[in-house]
Amino acid sequence: MEILKTDILIIGSGIAGLSLALKLRDLGEITILTKKRVFDTTTILAQGGIACVMDEEDSFDLHIRDTLLAGNGLCDPEIVELVVKSAPERIRDLIEWGVEFDRDPANFSKFHLTLEGGHSRKRILHVGDYTGRIIENKLIERVLENSNIQISENHLAVKLIPEKEVGLSGPPKRVVGAYVLDLTHIKERVFLSKVVILCTGGAGKVYIYTSNPDTATGDGIALAYEIGCKIANLEFIQFHPTCLYHPKAKNFLISETLRGEGAVLLNAEGKPFMHKYDPIRKELAPRDVVTRAIDMELKKTGAECVYLDISKLPSDYLRKRFPYIYETCLKYGIDITNQPIPVVPAAHYLCGGILTNKWGQTNISNLFAIGECACTGLHGANRLASNSLLEALCFSHQASLKIKEMWPILKESLYQIPPLKEFQIKEVAEEKVFISHNWDWVRKLMWDFAGIVRNLKMLELAKKRIDFIKRELETYWSGFYLDLDVMELKNICTVAELILISAMRRLESRGTHYLTDYPYKREEFQKMTVISKF
Ligand SMILES: Cc1cc2nc3c(=O)[nH]c(=O)nc-3n(C[C@H](O)[C@H](O)[C@H](O)COP(=O)(O)OP(=O)(O)OC[C@H]3O[C@@H](n4cnc5c(N)ncnc54)[C@H](O)[C@@H]3O)c2cc1C
Repeated sequence: MEILKTDILIIGSGIAGLSLALKLRDLGEITILTKKRVFDTTTILAQGGIACVMDEEDSFDLHIRDTLLAGNGLCDPEIVELVVKSAPERIRDLIEWGVEFDRDPANFSKFHLTLEGGHSRKRILHVGDYTGRIIENKLIERVLENSNIQISENHLAVKLIPEKEVGLSGPPKRVVGAYVLDLTHIKERVFLSKVVILCTGGAGKVYIYTSNPDTATGDGIALAYEIGCKIANLEFIQFHPTCLYHPKAKNFLISETLRGEGAVLLNAEGKPFMHKYDPIRKELAPRDVVTRAIDMELKKTGAECVYLDISKLPSDYLRKRFPYIYETCLKYGIDITNQPIPVVPAAHYLCGGILTNKWGQTNISNLFAIGECACTGLHGANRLASNSLLEALCFSHQASLKIKEMWPILKESLYQIPPLKEFQIKEVAEEKVFISHNWDWVRKLMWDFAGIVRNLKMLELAKKRIDFIKRELETYWSGFYLDLDVMELKNICTVAELILISAMRRLESRGTHYLTDYPYKREEFQKMTVISKF
């Protein structure tokens, strides 16, 4: 088995991983592992933009207040303040790396700012409706300029390596690297490193309907949990209210900014309905409110989708303002300039994740987690739109400061060769139907039993079924070929189980977690749900 050494091991090539690599580029040899191609990330799909206070009508206090309100009592106020106040500097980083945000046509010296649900002011910087694509591409360009940063594509991290065997005594003090599967050459590799940073993104693929890309299988969370990291707030899954409903559209999101610009939600009878659920904010209510309203309308009418209508705006403006959405919908035969768009809710964002402090550190000293896989305390029970790209940038900066501070000691640490016997490719599985069948089954189970509206009975039932699949998979996995589908199924099962346990522990309804047994907020649950293996 090949053993490779690197100073800094970053797992993931989205905004979190790439921006961190740029911040650490002067420290030493950096390896970025990514399980598909470098740009196969959630970051590239981000449409709306990044929240940042930029206007004299706006203030840090207002952005903080909006974030706390969305988080429904569970945000960490110190973290919220840190993120909101650091936003202008992090936007400057992006501009320095080559991102050109849209300017206000009426006053070119200013940025064009848009409004999204839950924000009390216009504060979203954007590049058309393809902000994430531009950010990801510019970050890749900058990273490729550095010869000491190596990007290893098609490299799947399958396990973190503890400094010694993990036992019941608790998590290890350090990790020394990761076991990795090179998917191109079907080879096992070991990457040894002085510091490891998980930037593996979210876990939307745990659900059958999701806006997330195929990479979002919660790998980092599963890997961190197995080694003893604390995992927090996994019950808080944000469902985006409006994904395109079309048999051929896999996961296309219709951005919140359409509602910010006046789009109206209509039920199957063509009637507006948001005024019944949130008479003041209507379409601009936070995502959880809009999502539940749509879910309720769908259940009441038995329809398969609702509609989002923006056609009252001039067609030239729509084509220019939403070129990506316009073109994509047109490809499916929907002209947004003169007809409403069929939409359904879908799993969109994981508010919880690997518990970290304000430096992005986990409870294992040289293991960091940044971006959507982390739970920093920013989002609480619900994420405010466009705060997540900002969070990833803020914490890659924070982590870079901490790693630089620790570097004099870290760089002297010796590489340790781990026991290798447990990581070996075995015989090739002939029948993969077992894996593909269970993939669909788990994701459908989670949608039906642990989706937008939950109850304890269904959650318990789902947990029993996931336990069964996990046991079956252990038997299968231990005897067969290691491959992407097997590993991802293993990871979605672990994350599904953690979501179910967290949801069953929170006996209240708050933010994105709605439990019919307790359809109200309870004071005694004003705290994080934290799970750890040891
Ligand atoms: C459709 C859509 C629109 C969005 N719009 C916005 C928006 O407008 N504003 C906003 O703030 N947020 C938005 N979000 C959320 C935001 O895009 C994400 O939270 C953010 O991009 C996550 O960045 P990340 O770097 O943490 O993860 P990602 O960008 O998902 O990157 C994760 C990386 O980890 C790699 N990886 C995962 N597991 C492994 C493994 N086992 N081994 C090796 N590599 C691995 C993946 O291949 C990938 O490279 C949107 C999300 C979606 C789905």
